[in-house]
Amino acid sequence: MMNRLNEDQIRIHDLEVYCNHGVYPEETFLGQKFLVDVILYTNTRPAGLSDQLEDSVNYGAVCQFIEEEMKCQNDKLLEKVAERISRGILKEFPLIKAVDFEIKKPWAPVMRHIEYASIKIFRERHHAYIGLGSNMGNREEYLRNAIKAIDSIEDTSIIKEASFIETEPYGYTDQDPFMNTVVCVETLKEPLELLHILQKIELDAGRTREIHWGPRTLDLDILLFDQQILTTPELVVPHPEIEKRMFVLESLCEIAPYEVHPLLQKRFLTLKENLETN
Ligand code: ADP
Ligand code: MG
Repeated sequence: MMNRLNEDQIRIHDLEVYCNHGVYPEETFLGQKFLVDVILYTNTRPAGLSDQLEDSVNYGAVCQFIEEEMKCQNDKLLEKVAERISRGILKEFPLIKAVDFEIKKPWAPVMRHIEYASIKIFRERHHAYIGLGSNMGNREEYLRNAIKAIDSIEDTSIIKEASFIETEPYGYTDQDPFMNTVVCVETLKEPLELLHILQKIELDAGRTREIHWGPRTLDLDILLFDQQILTTPELVVPHPEIEKRMFVLESLCEIAPYEVHPLLQKRFLTLKENLETN
């Protein structure tokens, strides 16, 4: 998660909406009062200089959007309401980079007095770099189809694409040359969610896992996910092979030469130069 402490904010405090979320039938039938607090992270500088509303986010429009979204559907859990509306705000208002969303239930039926119960979440736009490779069949077509599939992932769009480059096999070398490329996406998915969708796209391309580093119709690797460092059994990010593979660095340098590797603290251009001279 990026450090948002020093970023500009637009705040909405205690927006009151009467609607029908809840687990109990009485709640869905009678409805109750909800209070919403939001912090919208956006750069207010352009509007600060121009004094023009179109250079900023209209918080009145955000309030209206939240109210409509809260009334148009009844969810059982506050978790669901918060998730659904945070996602909606990021999709609806492109100038908002991230959102803090808190939904409070002052009349929560817990049989005792509380001021309120609430759910508070933080959601932001992510940027990920995905490495693509194929060395079986029509390699260009596998890559082109994969790019289309990635671009049609929900809440995800490709914002940069490197050229296709042909490379000699790496690791297990008794196989045909690879076609490789890298794309950059903007996404609202979390890292593991993205990994699972990419694995599904690999399977749809007829990928079978036989030899580690062996021939494959399609290989999709998450190279970078924001500046996050993740070490789980399923997912290691940044991808541990980036600095060892020239074709990955070449593609990354084509679309993001000055992006920084979060663990090595070096730009991709520098990592490529280091690998060339080794
Ligand atoms: P490779 O890409 O190293 O040739 P595979 O594509 O067969 O190997 O992936 C093996 C496993 O690597 C996957 O099951 C996945 O869980 C894991 N993995 C770990 N980190 C990543 C990552 N950054 N991107 C994709 N897969 C990853
Ligand atoms: Mg892989």
